[in-house]
Amino acid sequence: MLDILGRTHDHLSANDIFVALHPSYPHLGLTTVYRTLDLLANLDLVIRFDFGDGRSRFELAEKVKGDRHHHHLICTGCRKIIDYRDFHDKEMELIEATQKKLARRYRFKISNHLMQFFGLCEQCAKRK
Ligand SMILES: [Zn+2]
Ligand SMILES: [Zn+2]
Ligand SMILES: [Zn+2]
Repeated sequence: MLDILGRTHDHLSANDIFVALHPSYPHLGLTTVYRTLDLLANLDLVIRFDFGDGRSRFELAEKVKGDRHHHHLICTGCRKIIDYRDFHDKEMELIEATQKKLARRYRFKISNHLMQFFGLCEQCAKRK
């Protein structure tokens, strides 16, 4: 499962992973896939996303993948997900300052965050 998530740049649903595993592991059920993904998410090896379509997507944790931190642009028209790493200069500053402030105010040790922007991609915006 980690291997499949490690090889793709897509954000896969449990069902996508089930389909990808099926040829090699025909006896593996969808329930097992869900349960294993839950387990991996609890271990922080896998990150669970909700892109607003009621379907959880999974991505290998950046530290596991050796990947740089990224944020998401999500098209609500075609469900395309753009990963971006070319942060705006102020973006990281703002996030770090916000995290620091929240940590202090709520005595909360922040380990990670997700940043997702919803909207329309270029193609979908043109179609409207
Ligand atoms: Zn971030
Ligand atoms: Zn789109
Ligand atoms: Zn991503």
